[in-house]
Amino acid sequence: MNNDTISINKKIRTKMVQEAEKIKNHSLTIAIKYPQYKEAFDFVHEHFPSAEVKNKRIYMCDKTFLDELGYTEIAGFYNDVVDMIVAVKDSESYGYISEDEAIVHELLHSVSADKKDEEFAYTKSVLYFLKKGRDRDYIIRYMSPYLNKEIEKTKQVLIEKYKVILEKELKESIYKIINQTILRVGD
Ligand SMILES: [Zn+2]
Repeated sequence: MNNDTISINKKIRTKMVQEAEKIKNHSLTIAIKYPQYKEAFDFVHEHFPSAEVKNKRIYMCDKTFLDELGYTEIAGFYNDVVDMIVAVKDSESYGYISEDEAIVHELLHSVSADKKDEEFAYTKSVLYFLKKGRDRDYIIRYMSPYLNKEIEKTKQVLIEKYKVILEKELKESIYKIINQTILRVGD
């Protein structure tokens, strides 16, 4: 890491620490803990008992306040600098997944080795959605930000792959033309 990267990382960490304080101190924030949202905590605990998620607090926040902080269009997030889980109050009324579902997703981020691993958070939470009786369409809608990114990634891989094939074919046909031309000239 060079000095620039270190100083940027330092700035981000400072910002995340300050933001966490702001969230905790906001008048509309409610800190909740186990056994509130029992099913959500139990689900993650069952799969990752050593993570001791039942000791974690979830900060339920006002949507307008989170919008002001720049967290728009999300039902929750995990601040890995201070190990803080945030979820939007009444998330379902904004068309998001429900509070307990957001809590499961963010708790999973907090237990994964790579805190930003969306594949882990999405795939490990699907069972919770199924247990709750959510249908296929709901789960696909929930997973669509992740799935779309995966599709984009796959597309890029395919484009790169076919680029190589096409370049190879193009080169071969050019050589063929060159060879034919040389042969004709030689006649
Ligand atoms: Zn996530």
